[in-house]
Amino acid sequence: MEQTLVILKPSAISRGLVGDVITRFQRKGLIIAGIKMMQLDEAILREHYAHLVERPFFPTLLKSMMATPVIVMVLAGKDVVSVVRAMTGATNSRVAAPGTIRGDFGMSGQENIVHASDSPENAAIEVARFFLPTEVFGYNPITMPATYAPDEI
Ligand code: UDP
Ligand code: MG
Repeated sequence: MEQTLVILKPSAISRGLVGDVITRFQRKGLIIAGIKMMQLDEAILREHYAHLVERPFFPTLLKSMMATPVIVMVLAGKDVVSVVRAMTGATNSRVAAPGTIRGDFGMSGQENIVHASDSPENAAIEVARFFLPTEVFGYNPITMPATYAPDEI
């Protein structure tokens, strides 16, 4: 099964949205393959957001992502990277479509509740960045036959 990395950002922790966001992923039929709380530091954020280090907003992004511990998750499912990106919505929460996590829960381009990997290649890199192999579990929930047709898994 494909995997993706999700971070429940400090905006989700601080605003008490952890349960609501995780519930959405579970109700969609995605499998939680790994989950833990951790405090991010500048080193891991410079790596994770390497494409943004030169941008003017990077200092506030760093501060925002270190404001509280975060919850990191590995979600598994068919085409899970694109499914979770669609559920996440546009980067700026104010223009993210209603029905998406950012569109329903956020008002900010920076304090936008969740991170989600943007490609299967980056997902593999990001899962390895935040999780040890022993912290990610491959299992088939009993609900699988009601979630997918046989030729989908
Ligand atoms: N970000 C920001 N200002 C911007 C663009 C991005 O503060 O103009 C922050 C925002 O929190 C975003 C993160 O940087 O989620 C990573 O940016 P990216 O372009 O990768 O967006 P995402 O993949 O999270 O939608
Ligand atoms: Mg991104």
